[in-house]
Amino acid sequence: MRRSRFIPDYYFDTVYEITPDMLKELGIRGVILDIDNTLVPYEIPEPTEEVRAWLSGLWEAGIKTAFVSNNHRDRVELFNKTLGCPAFFDSGKPLKKSCRSALKALDTPPEETAIIGDQVFTDVLAGGLAGLGIRILVKPIKDKTSMFFRFKRLLEKPVIRSYHRKNRKRNSKK
Ligand SMILES: [Mg+2]
Repeated sequence: MRRSRFIPDYYFDTVYEITPDMLKELGIRGVILDIDNTLVPYEIPEPTEEVRAWLSGLWEAGIKTAFVSNNHRDRVELFNKTLGCPAFFDSGKPLKKSCRSALKALDTPPEETAIIGDQVFTDVLAGGLAGLGIRILVKPIKDKTSMFFRFKRLLEKPVIRSYHRKNRKRNSKK
């Protein structure tokens, strides 16, 4: 059955629930990461200690990471300054090409690469269009309250409901 491009494979409250073991079990060797509201809220310019520790855990397990953000150069470069990951700004997610440079930099095939982000129509869809192995949605750390964002979140609701329905089926089959 063809996967829906919108429905994430996994949905977690925070990235910290995503462990290196879990990713390895899923055959993932590279991770494409969103920054804003996935790792830190918009107004936090640099990675927190918690983010650093989580990233280190992935690296120690041999999982490579890259940042793919729709935000601008200054934001992405400052966030990545002390991390030194491949990082791409103004990426144009969900376009298929938004993941292309990151895949090249990670040097992992799409099937062995995951995307982690907080937006269905940006991050999950980008992963779907780029044919990535696993798409993981996390709850936004802190939501923007503009009308546009509230509208986007409203549109995401049925997708998240479908995820929970699918997940219940998956669990009942186990
Ligand atoms: Mg985001």
